Amino acid sequence: MGIHMQILIAILLGIKRNWHIFFGLIAGIIVGILFPSSSYPTINKVLNFLGQGFINIIQMVVIPLVISAIVIGVSNIGDNKQLAKFGKKMIFYYLIITTAAVAIGAILALIFKPGLGAQDFISSDVAAQMQGYVAGAIAEQKANMSGMILDMIPSNPFSSLASGNMIPIIIFVLTFAIALAKVGEINRPVVSFFESVFAATMKVTDWIMYLAAPGVFALTASSVASFGMEMFGEVWKYFLVIVLGLAIQFFIVYPLLMKIFSKVPVGKLYTAITEAIMVAFGTASSSATLPLTITCCEKRGISNKICSFVLPLGATLNMDGTALVQTVAVIFLTQAYGIDLSLGLIIQIAVLAMIASSTSAGIPGAGLITIALVLNGIGLAPDQLVVGFSFLFALERLADMLRSTVNVASDAVVAAIIADNENEINYDLLNNPDGYKEIV
Ligand code: ASP
Repeated sequence: MGIHMQILIAILLGIKRNWHIFFGLIAGIIVGILFPSSSYPTINKVLNFLGQGFINIIQMVVIPLVISAIVIGVSNIGDNKQLAKFGKKMIFYYLIITTAAVAIGAILALIFKPGLGAQDFISSDVAAQMQGYVAGAIAEQKANMSGMILDMIPSNPFSSLASGNMIPIIIFVLTFAIALAKVGEINRPVVSFFESVFAATMKVTDWIMYLAAPGVFALTASSVASFGMEMFGEVWKYFLVIVLGLAIQFFIVYPLLMKIFSKVPVGKLYTAITEAIMVAFGTASSSATLPLTITCCEKRGISNKICSFVLPLGATLNMDGTALVQTVAVIFLTQAYGIDLSLGLIIQIAVLAMIASSTSAGIPGAGLITIALVLNGIGLAPDQLVVGFSFLFALERLADMLRSTVNVASDAVVAAIIADNENEINYDLLNNPDGYKEIV
């Protein structure tokens, strides 16, 4: 049987087990189409309220979960050598996945030229001005890397925790956890404490999953209801490129990576993580989906050691779907404004998108904010590109739901590959969906 058939069957199996979430998703799409927010603002407000409530509820467990998972993960891994080995592998796979994403995004955007359709809406004066900006920036390269790096260093970990700023939180917790692992037996009370916190947050996640179907319904309905349908005619090519690119990642790049670097059966993994994939689509947030990604992977055979180290870092740093969409979006804008795309500029956009995506928080809309970093890098600022951006905004939520799904899937793919490489995967459990400990 072809690999794509296997993947489809795997997803159908996952959906069958989680028909209630899938039902919420489909019902959300139908209700969203039937009740567009422009004509039914009250219905949309209610759906928005319910959806936001669901996101808040799952986000409530994210910070305790990230902290406890990393502390346990690092102390389980134990010695520095093994930690460095896992860390290197993780960075290696995340880099491959993200490089593939930006390359696919760039190639598709250059083939389909989605921005050309938008050109008619942009005055030639504005376009000429933008072209000047880009030329100037290329002449003197000036990305503000130092400021960005300083922002990542947590001067006060408690204020990072309070504001939910993930990168400084992870830097602090990782440092703290490595130190704990180093101090030996005296770390027991703290590690035991975090083991209890982890177990309790997992329990809360199980409960929250009872709300997944209505939550995904409300979120999907309110996003579909607020699409700028009138603009769709102008941006369908942009949408097509994004969908195609993300599908290539999901259906070709990940299976290929798993085949080359591990013996993880892609179909089985996709069946195992279907709940997480659907919740990522509904919430458009990798960080809100994290509790479920960890639950899916752990309950289906990937060891806690790997899950608690690789997945929280992945949900924060590995955003290949975002990198792909950012690359397409920036090339879209350069095409819309008639800016010449040399090979050098394309590579620069791709590299900046890799950096920008990994600084994006795993929350809805983050990718559209960090795109400023890519634009600044090539001498443009979002507020100069208002018309071009209005096209991107029309599809933003849908694009976000799709890229978040891919972001979450790739975290699980990398966790599974590393678990396979390190003998940290229970294949009996992964290969036998009937043996899964059910999440709900
Ligand atoms: N919403 C995405 C995520 O959580 C980030 C983004 O906006 O691209 O994975």
